[in-house]
Amino acid sequence: MKIPALFLFTLCWTSMLFAQSADTGTLPYKYEELTSPKFVTAVEKAGGVCVIPCGIIEKHGPHLPLGSDLFESREWVCAAAAKEYAVVFPPYYMGQIFEARHQPGTLAYSNELVWKVLEETCSELSRNGLKKIILANGHGGNEAFLEYFCQSQLAARKDFIVVLFRPGSDPVLDKEIRSLSKAKLDQHAGEGETAMMSYIRPDLVDADAIKSQSGLDQARLKALRYGYTGIWWFARFPNHYASDVAGPNKKLGELLITKDASQLAELIKYLKTNNTIEQLQQEFYNRAQNPAKK
Ligand SMILES: [Zn+2]
Repeated sequence: MKIPALFLFTLCWTSMLFAQSADTGTLPYKYEELTSPKFVTAVEKAGGVCVIPCGIIEKHGPHLPLGSDLFESREWVCAAAAKEYAVVFPPYYMGQIFEARHQPGTLAYSNELVWKVLEETCSELSRNGLKKIILANGHGGNEAFLEYFCQSQLAARKDFIVVLFRPGSDPVLDKEIRSLSKAKLDQHAGEGETAMMSYIRPDLVDADAIKSQSGLDQARLKALRYGYTGIWWFARFPNHYASDVAGPNKKLGELLITKDASQLAELIKYLKTNNTIEQLQQEFYNRAQNPAKK
């Protein structure tokens, strides 16, 4: 469609006027929705805090979409940022997922690449002024990797901090969550995740397929004691599904998301108003540079 010149002029002029007052209006928290000039305002408003919602692309039982962890983490991260402003990184799907390589659709990148992408993402965020980075993990298989990534920040001096979000208990919401939960076994693609996806994107939950595969523990390494092996998960849940009940329950999903969102909002607020981690990190780097110095 061709736009008349006069209309185009009026449109541009109106946009210029609007742009002048844009900073006082609603500022998007999603990184990809910010214009470059508004990005500068966003960094300031966020106090340099950026949250990376970490998900993965993997099978989620027979009934949930491959990107479930992306949808779920993004949902509670955005709810937290709406409460306590922070910049939210676009859906992040590079992580540890070798244990699902036998299932269709899994994207399992090499460990070198996964490490490098996260490392460079953090330094690019820092270069852009986002120096307080929260990893908000929605994928169980990422936990050890993300903890090790945080520990590795001490290997060399950094001008930013990385914090892994650790949700905890909530006496009020936990009680409500327990009253709605029916499953005895609720892990991967189970009752909780099915509930969250039913709340976020019910159209993507294939309710008819829920019982088409077993999510029960196969216990094929039950006799192994005192040992950890990477094949443990496949030994127990070869269908990449771990639950006895996965019926869609929107209310339960909403509560699970609300709980994570409010705790994450607290963490954002803490980092915006507190520099203790930065100070301790700098003290550590200084001492680590010359440990024998008196
Ligand atoms: Zn998941």
